[in-house]
Amino acid sequence: MNYSIAMTESVNKKLFDHLIREDGQEDLCFAFYKPSTGSKRKTGIIVEVLLPEQGDRNVHGNVSFNSDYFDKVTSYALAQNLGICFIHSHPFPGWQGMSFDDVKAEKMLAPRVRAVTGLPLIGMTLGTDNYWSARFWIKEAPSTYERYWCESVRIVGKLLKPYFYDKIIRKTNYAEEFSRTISSWGESKQQEISRLKIGIVGLGSVGALITEALMRTGIRNMTFIDFDLVELKNLDRLLAINRSDIGKYKVDYQKERLLKTELLRDLVINAVPYSISERKGLNAALDCDILFSCVDMPLPRYILDCLSFANLIPIIDGGIDTNPKKDLSNIDQARWKAHTIGPERICMQCLNQYKPEDAALELSGDLENPNYIKGLPEDHFINRGENVFAFSMSLASMEMQQFLSLVLKPRGIYYGPKEMDFVTGTIDSDFENECEKDCKISNSLTGMGDQLNESLVMRHVGAEKSREKHKQIWNKDKNKRSVFEFLKASINSFLHL
Ligand SMILES: [Zn+2]
Ligand SMILES: [Zn+2]
Repeated sequence: MNYSIAMTESVNKKLFDHLIREDGQEDLCFAFYKPSTGSKRKTGIIVEVLLPEQGDRNVHGNVSFNSDYFDKVTSYALAQNLGICFIHSHPFPGWQGMSFDDVKAEKMLAPRVRAVTGLPLIGMTLGTDNYWSARFWIKEAPSTYERYWCESVRIVGKLLKPYFYDKIIRKTNYAEEFSRTISSWGESKQQEISRLKIGIVGLGSVGALITEALMRTGIRNMTFIDFDLVELKNLDRLLAINRSDIGKYKVDYQKERLLKTELLRDLVINAVPYSISERKGLNAALDCDILFSCVDMPLPRYILDCLSFANLIPIIDGGIDTNPKKDLSNIDQARWKAHTIGPERICMQCLNQYKPEDAALELSGDLENPNYIKGLPEDHFINRGENVFAFSMSLASMEMQQFLSLVLKPRGIYYGPKEMDFVTGTIDSDFENECEKDCKISNSLTGMGDQLNESLVMRHVGAEKSREKHKQIWNKDKNKRSVFEFLKASINSFLHL
């Protein structure tokens, strides 16, 4: 298991303002967290801070706290069902290790915290330049607690700012391949961007282009989530797809393709042929620092919306809406839109990216019924026009722009949704970038972590069928297509020529 920490910009500010003192002395405080568990990583989401009051701690070079303060912390954690973080500062910049006294103090706290909360103690140290280090104290045997360093601490809001532990997520020794990219934003930003773990949900036309763009930007760790197989109808829209790829998982195809480039020697791609609503799909998403939502149905959008706020994972989302003229003599209108959603930004629901009632309709299974679909009005989302490759390129590019703006925030400027109008050729940007006051997503789900995640998991019959089909097509032992299926695919493609 890997470990990490996430917090919002406002929680980070509260901690920084308290811990980094003008007089240069160290300080301390306690905070509370909720766990968020992916398939390979556990994240502590810092949800609240309880600053010490007068008399709660002694600041004298080497800061210490009094038992009254600790009692207040434990009773609150117990009442609210929260984990406990013990946080202190050092008067130096950069990633901070632990002194002999630091280890002693946290080792002493770990069993007491676990006894009260049932959760491991998290210890954190802050450097003067806001650089964070963090560790989980895990009970391995009776009265034996092991320290596990966190691979990263992520601050999430208008900017996504990661602090990495270099020994776990190593820096890259860049050679000529990336000299031009680095000349745009410098090596330290490149080291930061390239170490983010990025997930792409939906490997259709837009998703496929984004995997390519992320690799060429130097992203070393990607997770692809999609249960779909490559079909004949994808040939006019999937980047670099060939007829011989029909029947493969879209995630496998993109993975093979990117690995072949050998641009990044340490590229890791996790191909997950599951839906975001299935446990394996959801847990793989929770291992990521950022997600791209390249899905076009309301239910996965709803799940991603909730997941983003509950687990402090920013999501770049987008969509294309096209309409042909009624007599099909031309295209009538096409618009595509990209935006970054997540804590301290806006949610997809407030942006009208899906309607909760449509997500409920999808969940009911009625959309699987052709008779039901026949009865739906023409403007129903299910009857939307299909997009084309050229529009997908433009949207993928707008989504990459949202991503780079989120991680670079040049000149301190951030922005909200952008929408391209194909007919007039203009980009609109006059959109709301904050949730409505009574928004259920941002108000009640932020930081909930595993408390919410469990309720997002459900069965997905379509995904199960797709995996079954994949098993039939591919002879498992030799990883070769069965002769029958190969012939069937060839004949089909011939007939459609
Ligand atoms: Zn210390
Ligand atoms: Zn909202």
